[in-house]
Amino acid sequence: MGIIKKFYGKTQMGYEVYEYTLSNSGGMEVSILDFGCVITKIAVPDKRGKIENIVLKLPSIRDYETNPAYIGCIVGPYAGRIKGGLISIGDVEYHLDKNDGVNALHGGFVGLGRVMWKALELLEKPYPQIKLTYLSPHGEGGFPGNLRVNVVYSLCENNSLQISYEAVSDKKTAISLTNHSYFNLSGTLEPITKHSLRVVNPKILELDTDLLVTGKVIDLNEIGIKGENTVAVREYMDILQKVTPFYGIDHPFLIENDGENLVLAAEYSHSETGRFMEVYSNLPYMNIYSGNFLNGMVLEGATQYSGICFETQEQPDGPNIPELGYSFLDANTPYSCTTVFKFTIDKNS
Ligand code: BGC
Repeated sequence: MGIIKKFYGKTQMGYEVYEYTLSNSGGMEVSILDFGCVITKIAVPDKRGKIENIVLKLPSIRDYETNPAYIGCIVGPYAGRIKGGLISIGDVEYHLDKNDGVNALHGGFVGLGRVMWKALELLEKPYPQIKLTYLSPHGEGGFPGNLRVNVVYSLCENNSLQISYEAVSDKKTAISLTNHSYFNLSGTLEPITKHSLRVVNPKILELDTDLLVTGKVIDLNEIGIKGENTVAVREYMDILQKVTPFYGIDHPFLIENDGENLVLAAEYSHSETGRFMEVYSNLPYMNIYSGNFLNGMVLEGATQYSGICFETQEQPDGPNIPELGYSFLDANTPYSCTTVFKFTIDKNS
């Protein structure tokens, strides 16, 4: 149990990147880079005690420097798509990087996931913790304010990984941070379509053909998905197609919580290995993304649906859709949120 630090590689600019591996007494390991806050490994036991990595990873630092599929990294300052790459705060319009057609996606061309962070091993808790810090200068990606972001990864004894985000900006700004790990509980790259999924609050935001939210909420109960039902990912995809202009999951689900206490948002499992995962968060949304565009992306052997992301976040395109109730982050005001990924073995497996 503890933290092991290992040299990982050098960036094109010559920065040395380190990989920190947190371990607990249950045999779980989590590896994190001080580049992009990337998670390169979450290794958990299966029902026979076999420990395998259940997140997708890239071969080298070069790949993480481009990382078009955002594999394992932090996403921000604003997760998801922002229409027209434009936000208005007071009388000022901010033009963000348009890196997804005419829209902004996941913080722009660089974002928080393709920069060097500073890592600090925290020693005050009885479990391993690492804190990463980055200062995004005013105007980076088009966002206002010098923004300081801290991300704390904690590996608890009950095989849960807690990710806590803190931020503060010297100008009023828009912020929505998430982690973009692709989970495949089989420990391989086999399509996750046979994994099982339960989303506790099956309500999504409607999407248009550019994957922008329209602001309308769709209650999936009305098309046959209930919060208490666990269904195969493939079945989820088929049902969602009834209300979506594309195939595959890439939808913002509403999480019902009070903004402070963590609530269970989703369960995801794989019957052959018995691995069972729960997602908890105090954020209001979770974009579930089934790796629809993974085909042909840098990761050798990966195909469409080789992993699924649970991107807990603020209101998608919140700055442009007032009815979603997004509040901008005021200057010099602390921001925080937390997400937990917990791993167990399915009792029914
Ligand atoms: C988005 C997808 C996007 C992908 C990029 C996901 O979070 O929801 O629409 O294509 O990130 O890898």
